[in-house]
Amino acid sequence: MLAQNLVNYTRMIKKEVKIGKFKKRKTCRFCKSRKLIKFLDFGHMPHAGNYLKPKEVGKEYYYPLRIFFCKNCGLIQNLDIISSETLFKNYHYLSSVSLTKHFQEYAKEVKKKFLNKNSFIVEIGSNDGVLLLPLSKMGFKVLGVDPAVNVGRIAKKKDLDIIVDYFGVKVADNIVKKNGKADLILANNVLAHIDDMNNVFKGIGKLLKDDGVLIFEVHYFPDLLKRLQYDFFYGEHLSYYNVSTLITFLNKYNLEIFDVKKMPIHSGSIRVYAKFKGNNRLKTKAGVLKLVKYEDDLDRVDEKILENFNLKIDKHRSDIKKLLMDIKKGGSRIVGYGAGGRANTFLCSCDVNNDLLDYIVDESPERQGKFTPGTHIPIVSPEIFRKDKVKYVLLLAWNYKKEIIKKEQAFAKNGGKFIVSFPKIHLVH
Ligand SMILES: [Zn+2]
Repeated sequence: MLAQNLVNYTRMIKKEVKIGKFKKRKTCRFCKSRKLIKFLDFGHMPHAGNYLKPKEVGKEYYYPLRIFFCKNCGLIQNLDIISSETLFKNYHYLSSVSLTKHFQEYAKEVKKKFLNKNSFIVEIGSNDGVLLLPLSKMGFKVLGVDPAVNVGRIAKKKDLDIIVDYFGVKVADNIVKKNGKADLILANNVLAHIDDMNNVFKGIGKLLKDDGVLIFEVHYFPDLLKRLQYDFFYGEHLSYYNVSTLITFLNKYNLEIFDVKKMPIHSGSIRVYAKFKGNNRLKTKAGVLKLVKYEDDLDRVDEKILENFNLKIDKHRSDIKKLLMDIKKGGSRIVGYGAGGRANTFLCSCDVNNDLLDYIVDESPERQGKFTPGTHIPIVSPEIFRKDKVKYVLLLAWNYKKEIIKKEQAFAKNGGKFIVSFPKIHLVH
């Protein structure tokens, strides 16, 4: 069996850790099959979004992080589920910090293609209103649903109508009763967070008009595989998608995908456009079949590919650790840049802690003054970094490489070097 041949990625945790509450799922999230194969095991990891106040350092909870492959439908998934209360009640990721432009263009596109002046739009996982705000300014009636109290508060301050709750059948029924059915349902970077996909898609089925459109963005697993993005595996990402798996899943809810576009954000995402099967007004675009064919050519995701992926990760982890240790032995200080969920998975799984990185620079005021979970590295503002004379920056938010290097030109001009760890380890100076 595959799992037995693999190197075990259990972090070498020298100290005792407290294990938090989680639920173990035994069946595939999409097809309910029990033919699930474990292909990655990170051991126990802290919740990647749990930035620690000074008094919380060392008191964080750990959870298993194992990734499985469904032999029946192909869905890549995490079956150890941390409670949504723990993950999303207080959410430290604000879409507006880095993705405003992406969503402004998104709003323009949907306006042009799918909306008329009376359209009613609902967004599932509306975060701080980064997409609803431009749509509302265009004059459309918009409504957001998001369980995070803190980000909901930010969106409400922008005069957006937000239901602070988890989207599902109950919320959908209430919206229909109060506002009628939606012309457009949006869900961006949120489906991966949901365990009970059946409840969400039943809700979508009730809320969407017969001729309505559902558009969602998800991370694209073939890109994750190609670029060795193991830093994207963390507790809040429960599913990892490809088009073929989504087609089969949506079919259960009488929905079909009529267009798919590859998007560069998060280092490889897809924007998926779906409609009810009876809606013949919208024709299926060639892009859908193109990606399905591309996935077929990859032999879909099979066990051999996953095993190779596993071995490549192991080498990558030891290479980056060695590079950082060599720099440190040479007498130079290193700091990190970007303390997102990716950074936390990467640092914990490579065991790169506060011995190697002095601090991590992050733009988000929500994170500054706190510490990274598990590795206990302080998070500081860019202003502090710009006054510092450090020589090496480990680019943890490597998916924003261009933007960060442009913003920190002065650092490179003064002889500073960026260590880029993905997809291949290299230095930029
Ligand atoms: Zn399955």
